[in-house]
Amino acid sequence: MKKLGEPLYRARQLLEAVYSQRIDRIDAITTLPKAFRERLSMEGFELSHPSLQHRFTSADGTIRYLFAFPDGQTVETVWMPEGDGGEAGEMVDANGAGNGRREFTRATICISSQAGCAVNCRFCMTALLGVQRNLTPGEIVGQVLAVLNERRVAIDSERINLVFMGQGEPFLNYDNFMKAARLLAGPARIPESRMTVSTAGIVPRIYDFGREPLRPHLAISLNASNDEQRSAIMPLNRKWNLQALLAAARAFPLRERERLTFEYVLLAETNDSPEDARALARLIRGIRAKVNLIALNPGPEIPFGTPADERVHQFQQILIHGGVPTFIRRPRGRDIFAACGQLKRTVETDSSSLVSLP
Ligand code: SAH
Repeated sequence: MKKLGEPLYRARQLLEAVYSQRIDRIDAITTLPKAFRERLSMEGFELSHPSLQHRFTSADGTIRYLFAFPDGQTVETVWMPEGDGGEAGEMVDANGAGNGRREFTRATICISSQAGCAVNCRFCMTALLGVQRNLTPGEIVGQVLAVLNERRVAIDSERINLVFMGQGEPFLNYDNFMKAARLLAGPARIPESRMTVSTAGIVPRIYDFGREPLRPHLAISLNASNDEQRSAIMPLNRKWNLQALLAAARAFPLRERERLTFEYVLLAETNDSPEDARALARLIRGIRAKVNLIALNPGPEIPFGTPADERVHQFQQILIHGGVPTFIRRPRGRDIFAACGQLKRTVETDSSSLVSLP
């Protein structure tokens, strides 16, 4: 606004329009004078939300959105409501028709940071896409605004959590991810304490992230308790091995009462034995952390199996007895390919089968 020779309150009007009113077209920002809106468009400024290509709704209330950007690239964003009253909780329009919007007490939005992913974890379907490109800060923030608009919910700091755990490796698009986080925490007013970013283990960026004055919480996808095992399922471990990764985790400056999260995807007969659990407890001893266990979400072309529930519980118990707070991540939206590791632009062709876009 300064560069355009406009008074500074125009900047506030613009931010208010984009983030509070969530307007998605410059010409619809009626708080700005019409001539000024025309000038913005003429000078090449653009405002848009990612466009909704498909929406898949799970039996558990989870919604997977397939969004497209102007260049044709697509990503997925996932809406996970909590405290869902089921069908009975569906809100009803004035005319008595269900509108498909259900009451929720809290909701988590899972955001993509790249189209596709370069990291190539053997158990993850996003890896099969390869990396297409980085998303811009606007494209990252735009996913949140578009979902909130579609759900018709106000940005409500009490009820919305954000996780940067969709397509892509946020720490390989670090600057854009951080700009997006700052916009979401600033003008969008979702406090960074309600955001978590997950990394597959880009060690230098973990150090950078620790130095950020404003930052979300950190989760690290550990997934193995020794290098041989981790390199076999996460090839990036050959570049940054467990010693380097755990050194960064130990050095990470946690805030008061903050905990690091380690995610651990359990693959049947690969990394899910009681010995693995004990080795994991030893590996992370002394770090103020919790572990989130994720039983593999299966998918075509994924050469691993999902461990039985008892196996998952046994793994959890061993960690807990080893002094590590350990939780089992409930799969959300597995039936619509919305769960962890399943984001691969899968498109429904009929009610029983899902196929992937080329
Ligand atoms: N690239 C980042 C952000 C994605 S978070 C990262 O790897 O951390 C996605 C989480 O889902 C990661 O913890 C990953 O290990 C896990 N995951 C990947 N594929 C999975 C699958 N098939 N089943 C369960 N979890 C999976």
